[in-house]
Amino acid sequence: MSWITEYVRPKIRGLLRREVPDNLWTNCESCGQMVLTKELHKNLNVCPHCSHHMKAPVAERLAWTFDNGVFTRIELPSAPIDPLNFRDQKKYTDRLKDARSKSHVDESLVVAHGTIGGHPTVVAVMAFEFMAGTMGAAFGERFVAAARLAVLQKSPLVIFTASGGARMQEGAISLMQMPRTTIGVQMLKEAGLPYIVVLTNPTTGGVTASFAMLGDVQIGEPNALIGFAGPRVIQDTVREKLPEGFQRSEYLLDHGMLDMVVSRKDMRETLGRLIGLLTSAPEGITAPPPPAPEKQPAAPTAAE
Ligand SMILES: [Zn+2]
Repeated sequence: MSWITEYVRPKIRGLLRREVPDNLWTNCESCGQMVLTKELHKNLNVCPHCSHHMKAPVAERLAWTFDNGVFTRIELPSAPIDPLNFRDQKKYTDRLKDARSKSHVDESLVVAHGTIGGHPTVVAVMAFEFMAGTMGAAFGERFVAAARLAVLQKSPLVIFTASGGARMQEGAISLMQMPRTTIGVQMLKEAGLPYIVVLTNPTTGGVTASFAMLGDVQIGEPNALIGFAGPRVIQDTVREKLPEGFQRSEYLLDHGMLDMVVSRKDMRETLGRLIGLLTSAPEGITAPPPPAPEKQPAAPTAAE
């Protein structure tokens, strides 16, 4: 034994074995480049090489959206858990438990209020990290609560969507959330409050078929997949090759489904400007009076 085996070698091994955290680098799923995770967070989860907008967890999304990252999350009502007592390979209640511990959110919709560009606003964010952002009874309950809060505060509602659609573990009950959330949107329209939808990658299924397409302003994040059925399903059904960029934000903007495509770094400013335009009437202009109730046609008289 020499000093090399006894002293130098273990020292070198110790140096080589130094723990490297496995989330130090993130691989961009679009261009394949490695990005330092810390840098990626600073860049709002947008790849600095190809501008690909990666998924955004709820907490970050809220912090990026409100002025100075300051907001208050609201307590949300609960809904019956597992109404159908559903089980596939796993119990639905166990899936919910797993999702809660992995995602650090308790359901697929989180609601907060604060200011955007100085305007009080309610913001709802769909958590894709919670069971792919699927919509069940609890989601519907929360969406209506967000709409109620906006009406109560007389402030606009902004929702960031990210979803795989209705939650199949709740069967028809999940589909009932489509009209339910539509009623929530209607509450805002009746109160004359703006409802702005920001569609992020991916927004599909029953979510696209309901509240996500009813915004006064429809905004898409760049290159987000937005549609009802996925492109592969459509291609297999129509047996035709789909056009380039089909169901992506820019394609939908060209075809009139979106009003604008806004990159993440410009989102807060754009939302602030839009809310300002939609909520403040220029001086001297007042809202038009409500339409007079329609006159009932006179009932035909017996003499006629
Ligand atoms: Zn990239």
